Amino acid sequence: MTLQEKPGLLARLDDGPVICAEGYLFECERRGYLQAGAFVPEVVLDHPEVVTGLHREFVHAGSDVVEAFTYYGHREKMRLIGKEHLLEELNRRALELAREVAEESGALFAGDLSNTNLFSPDDDSRRTVRAMFEEQAGWAVECGVDFIIAETFSFAEEALIALDVVRETGLPAVVTLALHQEPLTRDGLSPAEACKRLEDAGADVVGLNCIRGPRTMLPHVAAVRAAVTCHVAALPVPYRTTIAQPTMQSLRDPDFDGRPFPTALDPFTCNRYELADFGAAALELGVRYLGVCCGAGPHHIRALAEAAGRTPAASTYTADMSKHAFLGTDPSLRPENQGYAEKL
Ligand SMILES: [Zn+2]
Repeated sequence: MTLQEKPGLLARLDDGPVICAEGYLFECERRGYLQAGAFVPEVVLDHPEVVTGLHREFVHAGSDVVEAFTYYGHREKMRLIGKEHLLEELNRRALELAREVAEESGALFAGDLSNTNLFSPDDDSRRTVRAMFEEQAGWAVECGVDFIIAETFSFAEEALIALDVVRETGLPAVVTLALHQEPLTRDGLSPAEACKRLEDAGADVVGLNCIRGPRTMLPHVAAVRAAVTCHVAALPVPYRTTIAQPTMQSLRDPDFDGRPFPTALDPFTCNRYELADFGAAALELGVRYLGVCCGAGPHHIRALAEAAGRTPAASTYTADMSKHAFLGTDPSLRPENQGYAEKL
């Protein structure tokens, strides 16, 4: 399939669900190629083969989108680690890595903008923030992205600035907000209100990503779905957040003396079936742009893709316990082993 023949994001969404794997920061950190804390995607320059491999694994597992790993590769983060001089190189490299996998697989190629951590409604940060979005969006356009994701904004106004920059590129815009413990943006809007403003300002897809797990994100996704007419996105983190601890940052582990976020969240990890259930519930609501954010592994993405009726390449290896030596049902298995199953 040539790039020209490849259906675009909006055509695919009109046709059915689109799966987008996210969570590159956490996965590269787990693998030992990225430092938690500043969370800057230096792996793009230091170990590009890891990023390429992860892009391929996510596509193999069912992701329809290869998202360039420029998340937190913006000017403020590069300044923070003393490597602002590598900003453009990192962005261009991340885009090239994603483009390669999108081209070879026929997946969509997405650019990525994120919260700057500089925005404040009370000062003159708007100009700085906008310039940061403009430089990153510019490199994404030059590299030929199919659309641009602007994600994890806790200020609706910052999301609106990012959207305005994406709109100027003429490319489709996916804009997702990050909802912390209080179910409002930091500028005081409900997710439904904020997403309606984004839709009115020209976003093609609006919704929520990151921070909240499936259980504590879904009700807000439902409210967004009811408030807008455009496509809706939902990309939770794969953690068992609760009403009392609704975000991955607020989770507390009685067996661990410290804050589990971000490096000790393991015991809270959702299994693949929980992500499949989330996908089914979101689809039932009419949400079509689905994914998993920080903490996602390929098994989560495959479960989500299968919940959407897909059979990605990784489905070749979807579990089949019928041939398990002790728990299986295959007639050739030894009955004494099957009889021992309860003692396993
Ligand atoms: Zn995330």
